[in-house]
Amino acid sequence: MSRFAYVDGRYPRHADAAVHIEDRGFQFADGVYEVCEVRAGMIVDLTRHLDRLERSLGALAIAMPMSRAALLAVFRELARRNGLRNGWIYLQITRGAAPRDHYFPQTPVNPTVVVTTRAVDPAKVEAAAAAGIGVITVPDDRWGRVDIKTVGLLSNVLAKQAARDAGAREAWFVDRDGFVTEGGSTNAWIVANGALVTRPTSPGILGGITRLVVMDFAAAHGLKVEERAFTVPEALAADEAFVTSATSVVTAVVRIDGRPIGDGKPGPIARDLRAGFHDVAELTPLIFGE
Ligand code: PMP
Repeated sequence: MSRFAYVDGRYPRHADAAVHIEDRGFQFADGVYEVCEVRAGMIVDLTRHLDRLERSLGALAIAMPMSRAALLAVFRELARRNGLRNGWIYLQITRGAAPRDHYFPQTPVNPTVVVTTRAVDPAKVEAAAAAGIGVITVPDDRWGRVDIKTVGLLSNVLAKQAARDAGAREAWFVDRDGFVTEGGSTNAWIVANGALVTRPTSPGILGGITRLVVMDFAAAHGLKVEERAFTVPEALAADEAFVTSATSVVTAVVRIDGRPIGDGKPGPIARDLRAGFHDVAELTPLIFGE
């Protein structure tokens, strides 16, 4: 458990940190978030995460509440207070607190800015990832703008809980035509005929930052990438499958709806991608002088 959080200019103890009951994030999911991996004292892919943050805020007409440099300073100070070296940083920005009314507040209010950190034991994370994960498939019943990284994640929550109830770790959303859109908190990939296959970005998926870095890795290593939608039967017949996200990096999928992919073990391409990912990712030191 982290010891401190950041809330609107202060660093309260995590257990005491709070926002207003009429915060629009709480009442309308009127806010956005980002999650950055922290590895060996480095923030992974900070620039791309902040680029996406600005796009998400722009889509909701919320002004960036502080400069990128100021946000980085908050990340560094919170990481220092919490002794964070491995884990992740969570940032949430909402439109702010105002008397409940669907319209934007007529008198401008300051956005609410919250930052928390979570520490993980890298050895435990690697051991868990080495086994690969199971996924279930569920109908994609989300709204039409999931490219905006809003805190409105109810479908994702229900889908991931259904996965857990079924003994799996992730849920893959499937569109009305039978094509996989993405995971509850990950992008979905298969390896077929030697190519990495993932759905092209659109308003119907979140453009994952990890997804982009995997593409950089593929370009650097001569791996072919095909941006196209794939079906569940195609995934079941694939050589490999995997998911990507800041928190799971690259994690092999070994079962879909209880049926094995390949020999039911993580494949070599997913393993190589996971092992080499941080060689191509952007790394920003959390602590000056490191
Ligand atoms: N899709 C969804 C729905 C997600 O929640 C996430 C993780 N935030 C991703 C994809 C992966 O995005 P990223 O690689 O930027 O973590």
